[in-house]
Amino acid sequence: MIFIDDFLLLKKEAELQRLWKRGSYFQDNKIFDEVIAIINNIKSRGLEAVKEYSKKFDDYDLSLGLIASEEEIISQARLVPTDVYNALKHSAERIKRYHESVKIESFKYETEESESGFKWTPIENVGIYIPGGLAAYPSTILMTVIVADVAGVNNIYVCSKPNKGKINPYIASAILACNTKKVKVVKLSGIQAISSMALGLGIKKVDKIFGPGNDYVSLAKKYFFGEVAIDMMAGPSEILIVSDGKVNPSWIAWDFLSQAEHDKNAKTGLISNEIDFLNEVMERVKEYSLRVLNKHIVESSLQNSFFGFAPTLEDAISISNILAPEHLEIACENPEELFNKVQNAGTVFLGNLTCEPFGDYILGPSHVLPTSGSARYFSGINVYDFLKRTNFSRIKTKNALKNLLDASLIAEVEGFSAHKKSMLCRNE
Ligand code: NAD
Repeated sequence: MIFIDDFLLLKKEAELQRLWKRGSYFQDNKIFDEVIAIINNIKSRGLEAVKEYSKKFDDYDLSLGLIASEEEIISQARLVPTDVYNALKHSAERIKRYHESVKIESFKYETEESESGFKWTPIENVGIYIPGGLAAYPSTILMTVIVADVAGVNNIYVCSKPNKGKINPYIASAILACNTKKVKVVKLSGIQAISSMALGLGIKKVDKIFGPGNDYVSLAKKYFFGEVAIDMMAGPSEILIVSDGKVNPSWIAWDFLSQAEHDKNAKTGLISNEIDFLNEVMERVKEYSLRVLNKHIVESSLQNSFFGFAPTLEDAISISNILAPEHLEIACENPEELFNKVQNAGTVFLGNLTCEPFGDYILGPSHVLPTSGSARYFSGINVYDFLKRTNFSRIKTKNALKNLLDASLIAEVEGFSAHKKSMLCRNE
């Protein structure tokens, strides 16, 4: 944990991204080389290689089945306590209602000569990666599958790591809570899961791959981008908290630890204009870090954490805009004005009651969000991500067409005689 009480230094460290020891996804060439070697092997040997990697990395014998049957999903879901299933249902309903309320509107623009615009259509086949290494994430099922279903996607493949040959009971329960028949659960994890979805090995080739994962998963997604679309690079979790210090420091300490416990590479930070508050939260983070279940993870991830002083809350937000955090909490009495100044963040939690974990599970917007500064150009998963826009145009009349014929001059300078003729012949 580092403590910075000099704002100019805080700004410099943020610009250099040293506060969070961030690097590029290509920084670790060794991992990328490993990923490429595995993908090349899968490309040349197909399912046989997928089978070997599944055994090697996930101890699963693929000849026991690639896709979980409906009976398996139901019997695994039965292992989950009813109150947990009910909680998943409650979240699922809220997430569904939120995404159903997002307006998807076609667009038409008219001039005297023509009308043009676009219409939205769902992507036909999508693959969703649900991480299964360090923890099982039934919530990530809700936060992706429901959005795909609402968007109207036909085939939703969900890759999830099997445990002792069976899909994880909580994953099964979350699938049932989504209440859709469009999902097939594929018992694959890691690079072999991404490759199978991208290449269509044992399942339909998907058009777009969604979902977070570790470096192996993210780099495999990155490799296949172009062959298929991907949602974003969603890696280790991050939280930045901006606070005016007028909130119980224990609350903020727990919020801090709620991200630190995700992953040993998770990033956490608090910026405040109250130096005593920063000190107080830091002391509580130290104290409470000994009480969390995943002490060993928190111990590592807290090395990527900082407490920084900013003279004003606007200055704090300017640091946040540089870091472009996955999650930003504005734990202040009047968060709205500061929110107006936020330019780069995956999602923002406003006010002292709205801690990030509510967003992880139940508020509505998807918790699959861009990390590592990519909130500068990526957004969290939304219905739009499961749709594509198709443009259309129509020239109204032959008379109207005459007003557009000067475009043939552009075709001529580009050296395209057929383009030119194609336009001119309609006026002959
Ligand atoms: P994971 O499913 O991404 O990766 C586990 C798999 O990686 C294994 O099953 C194995 O197949 C493969 N693997 C492991 N070691 C390997 C090796 N040496 N060579 C090749 N393949 C190997 O699960 P995870 O590791 O728990 O990572 C999940 C990540 O997703 C975490 O960093 C978590 O913070 C992040 N996450 C992010 C979001 C988000 O929205 N940004 C949401 C949830 C989780």
